[in-house]
Amino acid sequence: MANVTSTWTEPSNTATALLLLGRGTDPASERGVDCPGDLPAPSDPDLVARATAAKAALGDRVFVLGHHYQRDEVIQFADVTGDSFKLAQQAAARPDAEFIVFCGVHFMAESADILTTARQRVILPDLAAGCSMADMAVLGQVETAWERFEDLGIAADVVPVTYMNSSADIKGFVGRNKGVVCTSSNAKRALTWSFEQGSKVFFLPDQHLGRNTAVLEMGFDLDDCVLYDPHKPGGGLTDDELRDARMILWRGHCSVHGRFTLDSVREVRERVPGVNVLVHPECRHDVVRAADQVGSTEYIIKALDAAPSGSAWAVGTELNLVRRLALAHPDKQIMFLDRTVCYCSTMNRIDLPHLVWALEELVAGRVPNVITVDEETAANARVALDQMLALP
Ligand code: SF4
Repeated sequence: MANVTSTWTEPSNTATALLLLGRGTDPASERGVDCPGDLPAPSDPDLVARATAAKAALGDRVFVLGHHYQRDEVIQFADVTGDSFKLAQQAAARPDAEFIVFCGVHFMAESADILTTARQRVILPDLAAGCSMADMAVLGQVETAWERFEDLGIAADVVPVTYMNSSADIKGFVGRNKGVVCTSSNAKRALTWSFEQGSKVFFLPDQHLGRNTAVLEMGFDLDDCVLYDPHKPGGGLTDDELRDARMILWRGHCSVHGRFTLDSVREVRERVPGVNVLVHPECRHDVVRAADQVGSTEYIIKALDAAPSGSAWAVGTELNLVRRLALAHPDKQIMFLDRTVCYCSTMNRIDLPHLVWALEELVAGRVPNVITVDEETAANARVALDQMLALP
């Protein structure tokens, strides 16, 4: 049998590969929250056995979801793996599971809570597992932008669209204002529908997914897009710029996918002749333009499954997933697009000690780290999610 690690080269480490978040600084937010219980030590040799035993004791009462970017040590306990929307749907399809343990980040657990029944409880093993992109769009900032559109008299022409990677508050705002949620797989369909409802789209919170979809898939010019910066007065845009724009992009991005640069693409093409560059649409516009293929995590997984033996691929997405794919396909040369490590630091907050702790708490009759979305927000968010499911 081939050595499964023979084609994989681990990127070099960087000082900021895993950024530690603050601790105890703001208990009300998803960041800086200490785990309320006693975590097992990471060095505990019985962690795998403890997780296995706790999961077995809970049986069908628990359903463990694992996002593609999670660590292997956690993924091994997932009942299902997938992207954020697929996981939320899987949770909704298991109404008998009393506890949904979501190995992912905060906005994903919120979506699962919105889509599951009231008696099911969604648990995030580490409350500090947030998402830097979702955090870049705060409800008050978005409402301020909308008020500007109203003052300018353009709000009736604007359809808000939010990427799945946003808080429940933002999804609720979009639902209240007759918009739609999208994923990286259906962004083009969501934008096509939106431009049938109005002449402008207000795209939250990922500027890159919005720009890449509008320009590369729908034929808009870069000049049709403007960038609304919530940290500048009036978003940093003039009245005329807002009136003329077709795509008003929120200034947000993914700190993981934003790390890939045009130099990464040039460097790998020089180093590996014939390499296929495959990137996620959260990457910057120049990177996506320079790539051979672009697609969601599910697309990336399928493309590599279908790739011929012996082909070479440089993949621009989160490192845990790329490594797992490389090890699953030892007959293909699969490498990370960048030379240095690029984990999602918040996804990596969910490690085996946190999972063991959460499962053992459930076995002991305590329900830790429950993620709850208030009823009004959930109802509004569901309108925007249902609109996504109804997209033609
Ligand atoms: S990979 Fe990017 S978008 Fe996904 S959870 Fe991490 S920071 Fe958020």
